[in-house]
Amino acid sequence: MRLDRAALCFAMISAGLLSANAQKAPIQITADLSAAPRKLYHAEIDLPVTAGPLTLTTPEWIPGTHRRWAGVSDITGVVFTANGQPLTWRRDDVELFRFHVTVPAGVTTLHAHLDCIVTTRVTQKMAALEWEKLLLYPANTPVKEIPIQPSLIVPAGWGIGTALTPEGRGPYPVPPAGTVTHFAVTNVEQLEDSPVIAGQYFHEFALAPEISPKHYLDVVSDQPEDSNLRPAFLAEVSNLVREADKMYASHHYNVYHFLLTLSDVAGGLGLEHGQSSDNGVGEKDFSDSKRQVADADLLSHEFTHSWNGKYRRPVGLYQPDFATAEQGALLWVYEGMTQYLGNVLAARSGLKSQAQYRDLLAMSAASLDSEPGRDWRSTEDTAVSSSILRGGNPAWSNWRRGQDYYDEGELLWLDADTLIRKTTNNQKSLNDFEHIFLAKGGNTGPLIVTYTFAELVADLNEVMAYDWATFLHERVDKINPRADLAGIEQGGYKLVYRDKPSAGERTVAAHGGRRGSIDVWYSVGLRVDGQGVVGDVRWNGPADEARIAPGAKIIGVNGQAFSGDLLKAAIREAKGKTEPIHLIVQSDTYLSTAEIDYHEGERYPVLERVEGTPAYLDDITKPLAANPPIPAEGNGDD
Ligand SMILES: [Zn+2]
Repeated sequence: MRLDRAALCFAMISAGLLSANAQKAPIQITADLSAAPRKLYHAEIDLPVTAGPLTLTTPEWIPGTHRRWAGVSDITGVVFTANGQPLTWRRDDVELFRFHVTVPAGVTTLHAHLDCIVTTRVTQKMAALEWEKLLLYPANTPVKEIPIQPSLIVPAGWGIGTALTPEGRGPYPVPPAGTVTHFAVTNVEQLEDSPVIAGQYFHEFALAPEISPKHYLDVVSDQPEDSNLRPAFLAEVSNLVREADKMYASHHYNVYHFLLTLSDVAGGLGLEHGQSSDNGVGEKDFSDSKRQVADADLLSHEFTHSWNGKYRRPVGLYQPDFATAEQGALLWVYEGMTQYLGNVLAARSGLKSQAQYRDLLAMSAASLDSEPGRDWRSTEDTAVSSSILRGGNPAWSNWRRGQDYYDEGELLWLDADTLIRKTTNNQKSLNDFEHIFLAKGGNTGPLIVTYTFAELVADLNEVMAYDWATFLHERVDKINPRADLAGIEQGGYKLVYRDKPSAGERTVAAHGGRRGSIDVWYSVGLRVDGQGVVGDVRWNGPADEARIAPGAKIIGVNGQAFSGDLLKAAIREAKGKTEPIHLIVQSDTYLSTAEIDYHEGERYPVLERVEGTPAYLDDITKPLAANPPIPAEGNGDD
């Protein structure tokens, strides 16, 4: 029997949305991006008010980032006026995101002007707008109860991509120069969840036309040729829409827009929203099938969040006011299950091959399995600590652990999926769980329904009776010195190390995000770039025993000047011998020698098929939808 908490939340949230919008005049906000190439956004905001003290606020905790917004210091040029007269304001002494003003008698509309200095996701040819940069609304009110109508000004000739509903179709998405594009009234919660991309080199592509509701890929780029995406890539993204339709058997949006920026300047990003996702990759990262492998799961990951994270949200990660701190517990569901499903969907859609899926899974499994920080820190602690773990210095990060709930979650949900398949003789799978957990309430518009650990366990039990609470607690809350490799093994494979990298690892190394790094982590225990600079040293590994520290620079290998190839050759030559590898190392301004006593040769992770066992991993990555063939290209996979 399932607790009916979800149905209750569903009713309350819907009611709140309707009554608020019906009763109050909306805030009017016009975002002006015409100075975006000069790193400035402007906003003009009209707020319905009554006389007396008023506290306005900007969003503090941003959904999806799971942390406090650091960019509030970039909000500048703040001026409040009433009937054209400026009003004095004072920032709250404690809550620094808040502004206090006193509205004079007889005033019903308060005008606010503000600017935001924008240094990321903006170039000479494109801009991305996340609304926290410009938003201002009454504090201490649930954000879904504050109606707001957004409008937008963009540089002449720029196209607009967003899930916001334009008011009056007009010449959209490329408005005539000098015009303001108006959007339908929404609420502050939804507006914050509806970013905009705009750019000179803009394309909007309709995806999987037979699927309803409609899906679009909106893309802007710094170079004109890049936004003209390849037919094969577009066909794969259409397949992604079809595969998600099969996997989730529901939708929680009225329309979905994949927003994509292609730029080497704007910076990378993947941020989920209910009706869209904000995706940023390098200028050429989707320009051929090899280059796309490293980011093959970006769109499928962020798309999955529309169901897992946006519609279904751990109770501690939902804040009705953007001011309450987000709590990271259960992020191994929100992010970890999304990591698993996003990679599976990428393989089912053809964004990467089944072999590439396995090669990349081997890489993340090996990384977790050789991470010494798991001796002191549980996966749940990486989730609870999420807001302080993103980014940071790589030094000793293998001892600290990072946001491991992503990849730990991927292994955990693969374990659950293959356990269900094994126990039910492949009659049931995690797909059945998604049909319950993510489709509860049927098809809806954008909606947030929170859940607890108990509901997760109850829904898993509805698929297959099992002690799921213990299954999850053991993998998530306990200290586990080894990674959860059971899913790979139940899937018919095992993690092994070979003396040559897999084809997938070679593709990612040559074309993907780790270009220039030398993979000697599983041999001597170093993350080192092409110039010899050491990013991290594996705790208790051979290089650690040789006293090499993060930040050092290797300048000599066995008497010759450093190169990545030379270091790998030295590792190969030392195999089975007793002579150590001799390094000359620069630490700060000092030179020293280091001797790495390592003799097992090169080691690279790969999944090896265990013959005679069911290959559930191959079943999992097979398409479920009847996808049309992908247009052929001349640059096949490695
Ligand atoms: Zn995510």
